[in-house]
Amino acid sequence: MVELRGVHKSFGALDVLHGVDLTVRKGEVTVLLGPSGSGKSTLLRTINHLEKVDKGFVLVDGELMGYRRSGNRLHELSERHILRRRTRIGFVFQSFNLFGHLTVLENVVEAPLSAQGRDRAEATAHARELLERVGLSDKAQEYPRRLSGGQQQRVAIARALALRPKLVLFDEPTSALDPELVGEVLDVMRDLARTGTTMVVVTHEIGFAREAADTVVFLDAGRIVEQGPPAQVLDSPREERTRAFLGAVR
Ligand code: ADP
Ligand code: MG
Repeated sequence: MVELRGVHKSFGALDVLHGVDLTVRKGEVTVLLGPSGSGKSTLLRTINHLEKVDKGFVLVDGELMGYRRSGNRLHELSERHILRRRTRIGFVFQSFNLFGHLTVLENVVEAPLSAQGRDRAEATAHARELLERVGLSDKAQEYPRRLSGGQQQRVAIARALALRPKLVLFDEPTSALDPELVGEVLDVMRDLARTGTTMVVVTHEIGFAREAADTVVFLDAGRIVEQGPPAQVLDSPREERTRAFLGAVR
């Protein structure tokens, strides 16, 4: 579903990603771990082309992000085409980013209507199904400010799923939550993982990584230091940097 090959990214003189290779298979969950500033968010953002790579390439479901091939030449896609491609990739942020002036239901139907031109009745029925799935059927007509952080993040997940994405990216989805609200969001994410959603998740929740991940990737200073099944990377890491990081977050 996702292939990164030799991805480099700099911001001015700051090299953030130094040749990242990563493969995410369809239906699999990849958890990305690493210290603050190691490039995790930047890596996620290259997957949906919120960041353009300087070198290397990103394929999502066989399509080159940001470019179209004709013969053996590459043409940069227009912003409109990039946006269309991006609608098939869900993104869940630490900060929820719900629209405060829209109800929960309106938040979930907004993008399918505006970005995908779906039929209102169909999009609304789908949104209600998704709200049920994240346990918020009774909040459809509420405004986000009347919900807890955990509920808001569950709405944000429903909103991401409303686009029928091929892939959902999560950037520290529970980091802004009070500790007692983390579990309800992780439960929803575990449910998605179990039902075959392809996910790339940046998180410090080692327990989630252990239960839900097919692959755990440890990033440090813009390089993948180690990757493998959770039991290997979390319980018998080969690299000293991985051990030091795990020691610090556990
Ligand atoms: P992480 O998510 O692992 O904490 P980030 O990918 O957010 O790391 O950031 C990696 C490095 O890139 C940091 O030093 C950060 O300050 C820098 N960085 C990220 N985005 C930008 C940007 N748009 N402009 C300049 N520097 C950036
Ligand atoms: Mg980050």
